[in-house]
Formats: sequence, structure tokens, C-alpha cells
Amino acid sequence: MEKMVIIGSGPAGLTAGIYAARADLSPLLLAGTLPGGLLTQTSEVENFPGFRQGINGYDLMIEMQQQAERFGTRIEYEVVAGAALTDGCVQTLTLESGEKIETKTLIIATGASPRWLGLPNEERLKTHGVSACATCDGAFFKNVPVVVIGGGDSAMEEANFLTRFASEVIVIHRRDQLRASKIMAERALNNPKIRFVWDSKVVDVLGETEVDGVIVENIKTGKQSEIACKGYFAALGHDPNTGLFRGQIDVDSHGFILLKDGKSCTNLAGVFAAGDCADNAYRQAITAAGMGCRAAMDAERYLEMMKQ
Ligand code: NDP
Repeated sequence: MEKMVIIGSGPAGLTAGIYAARADLSPLLLAGTLPGGLLTQTSEVENFPGFRQGINGYDLMIEMQQQAERFGTRIEYEVVAGAALTDGCVQTLTLESGEKIETKTLIIATGASPRWLGLPNEERLKTHGVSACATCDGAFFKNVPVVVIGGGDSAMEEANFLTRFASEVIVIHRRDQLRASKIMAERALNNPKIRFVWDSKVVDVLGETEVDGVIVENIKTGKQSEIACKGYFAALGHDPNTGLFRGQIDVDSHGFILLKDGKSCTNLAGVFAAGDCADNAYRQAITAAGMGCRAAMDAERYLEMMKQ
């Protein structure tokens, strides 16, 4: 029987590992399908405190991993295939290999996955101009045009943010109405550096080694045209990686795990959540790390309470 199992190896999971290991709990961390999490897919991380010159996303995650291992976090490169969760009793996980793991406490730090259009060239040019995070990558696009795909709050927020750097921000939306809240929409509509291309879908991303433009198709007329740009920001929403726990853990209408009492507790005693899988508002490396710290401390206190 494990004292603590952490699912996920992004900033939330690894920070939980650091705190739990330093509390002598010898946590088992299951790294999942993308060891190191989404940050391993970004280039330079310039907003994680402590790195004045910025740090490569992959290197940051290696540092966190080695820090967690240094204190005794046991990292296994396993994928969880099933979970049988209880309210305050043993939590049972089944790995893809078929192995079963039982634990007194579980920290879910499975992250969220950005939605993509699924175009082959979008995939090929990721980190070469294609991004799903303006906060992470916007500053690399100074005085060049960029496109933002989507019409929700994320798209408006990213578009507004990108106007600080880009020469022009072109929002491409598949309808003629925004989904975004009124205030966010108005801010973007009134921003002179933002241009809207309505009723249009992106059908291809252009560029050999980095993004040079996109081909858009007007949905109503079928007419295709080219828009030159150096940055391509998908703002199509995120899907939390919580499918494994549906029906057992309380989630919001988007599938993000609901936390209780201003802490990292879920509706099930002994099960905690941290990072993007439980955060539909911020989704930053530093906020995920903070949530991982909270989850480890909450789980540690829970284990102490169970001893009494
Ligand atoms: P949303 O799901 O709200 O918006 C996604 C957008 O992407 C929609 O406009 C949608 O178009 C478009 N889209 C989705 N799939 C495709 C596709 N295949 N092709 C073309 N377009 C597509 O996600 P957000 O991330 O914007 O927001 C998620 C939640 O987070 C919301 O509740 C939002 O309010 C909140 N949020 C709040 C913020 C704030 O208050 N500061 C900032 C960011 C998010 P369509 O409209 O046609 O469906």
C-alpha cells in the first residue's frame, strides 16, 4: 500500500513530489503519456520566477524532476488506464500494463490539453511559430503579424495580449459572432491593432522551417485567401485530462476538477487535485506548481489526521 501516489509529471505533479518527498512520504509519481507535461513542448519559458534569462521548457522540467527525485520521489514512466476511487478509503489505480496500485492518498495532476485544428502543418510547425499560449510565446513575435484562431475569451485575451508585441493581430473566427464575454469581446473589437476575419476557417499553415502565413477559407463563399503572419496562436479552448475520473470526481461543465473549501480537496476524502486539470482560469506553470505544493501539504495533513 502506497502512502501517496501522484498522477502527472508537469509542474503540479513534480512540485507535489518535491513537497511530499521532503515530508518523508516517499511518493510514487506516475509520469503519464507526456513526461514533463506541456512545458516540454514550449521553447523558452521567460515567466517562471528564478530564471532571469529564461529557461528552456524541457530543461526546466528536468530540473524539477531531478529535484523531486533528490528527495526520494519515485518516478515511474507508466500510464494510468483506470481508477477506482473511494471516499476516504483505499484508492486503486490500474496501469496500462495491468498492474494495480493501491494508495492511501492520490494527487491528480493530469493537466489539460489545448485543442488544435489538427492540420498536418500545424503539428509540424509547433514551437516554430505555432503555439497555444500567448503568455508563454507572445514576446517572441515583436513587430510581426500574428493570427489567433477562435472566438472565445481565451482568443480575445490572447489577441489583446499579443498587441503588445505584434505589428498586427488577426483574429480568425469560424462564425460572425464571438463566443467571448461582452467585456472581453468589446476590448478586442475596439483595439485598433486587432483585425477580425469572420466566417472563416484555417485550412493550412504555410512555412518551411517557421510559420509564414495561413490559408483561410470563407465558410459562406468557399473562397480561399492567404494571410501572411509569423505567429499562429490556437485559442480553441482546453480539454482537461480528467476522463479517467469522470463519474467519480466532481467536475465543472468543462470537465475541470472542482476543488473544495479553498483547498486542493476533491469531493472524495484522500483524493486531491492540482494544476491545469483543476484550473480553468490561469493554467500557468507557476500557478500549477503552487497548486502542487498545496495538494502535497493537504494530503500530508490528511495522512496525519488519519493516524489519530
Ligand atoms: P471556448 O470553448 O469558450 O472557446 C473556444 C473558441 O474556439 C470558440 O469561439 C470556438 O468557436 C472556437 N473553436 C473551437 N473548436 C474550433 C474548431 N475546430 N475550428 C474553429 N474554431 C473552433 O474556450 P476558451 O478557452 O476561450 O474559454 C474556456 C473558458 O474559460 C470559458 O468559460 C471562458 O469564459 C473562460 N476564460 C475566461 C477568461 C477570463 O475571464 N479572463 C480568459 C480565458 C478563458 P465557436 O464559438 O464557433 O464554438
